[in-house]
Amino acid sequence: MLEKTALVCGAGGFIGSHLVRRLKRDGFWVRGVDLKLPDYEESVADEFIVGDLRLIDVCERVIDRDFHEMYQLAADMGGAGYIFTGQHDADIIHNSATINLNVADLCRRRGVGRVFFSSSACVYPAVNQADPDNPNCEETSAYPAAPDSEYGWEKLISERLYQSYARNYGMTCRIARYHNIFGPSGTWDGGREKAPAAICRKVAQADHGGEIEIWGDGLQTRSFLYIDECIEGTIRLMHSDFAGPVNIGSEEMVSINRLVDMVCEIAGKRLHKRHVAGPMGVRGRRSDNRLIAETLHWRPTQSLMDGLEKTYAWIENQLLRSAA
Ligand code: NAD
Repeated sequence: MLEKTALVCGAGGFIGSHLVRRLKRDGFWVRGVDLKLPDYEESVADEFIVGDLRLIDVCERVIDRDFHEMYQLAADMGGAGYIFTGQHDADIIHNSATINLNVADLCRRRGVGRVFFSSSACVYPAVNQADPDNPNCEETSAYPAAPDSEYGWEKLISERLYQSYARNYGMTCRIARYHNIFGPSGTWDGGREKAPAAICRKVAQADHGGEIEIWGDGLQTRSFLYIDECIEGTIRLMHSDFAGPVNIGSEEMVSINRLVDMVCEIAGKRLHKRHVAGPMGVRGRRSDNRLIAETLHWRPTQSLMDGLEKTYAWIENQLLRSAA
């Protein structure tokens, strides 16, 4: 039987490295590409090309055949400290848009079977997410468009890019809007980390009875999805008849203060929260999973606490290793 082939762009990143592992388990021959190798473990890809997808000659070398499946996860991204300060806006748009323009066109030229694009909850208008208890992230609410970051605008235009290739060239594209994915092997320090990893690190580093710094008043709400569920949703969407865009996220919404309490509970530490000025993003955000349940007959079920326990243990271990 013909071996199934997959290309993962962004295979050196958090979600990409987990996806490569899953595709290998599913029997694919996998090529990964990224600016860098994975930070925390060796890639299990059959072939890994270190290269810059902004360069067309690199894309031509990487997308050199009609892969059965191509997953496009490469992006210039990070947590609130990278995306919402405004200091990286030009790079974020230029770098990620160039990658997507190159990759979409090469996939068309090589006749790639199925193309997956990782969009984001950041496409949703800030005005619909002003109420922390009742944010609206229904897929159709992305328009009229008003994302609160250039990162969100780039995702929206790239969604439209892949949809246009599907419409004009018959390319089979699948689009997911990820909502705050977290778990082991995610960035946990250095400025690009997301809230769950940053809080796990801060709690692990704090002394019992000490203090933890939180950006904003901590009343802003989010929902966080454990990495294994993100990968499961991605694979299900890719193999479905539904093109998307569809949310892949959790519906379990918590405030950042509550998230801190949960991590403290796991660590067995009591800490005082000190709220400081910092980039926060929208007031509330939660995945709306009605469409994914309707179209894929699946929705994530793992509790936030379960995922946090595994993530905290992993970050604690990283800290121990870096101290050794
Ligand atoms: P990540 O930063 O860990 O992975 C992205 C990878 O892209 C990195 O390894 C980076 O080196 C690579 N990359 C950047 N520029 C590149 C270039 N020019 N050429 C080749 N590779 C390049 O991020 P992640 O959390 O794994 O996210 C994967 C995708 O999912 C991204 O597109 C991101 O925007 C999207 N997403 C993630 C989340 C989340 O919560 N993690 C939420 C919404 C959307």
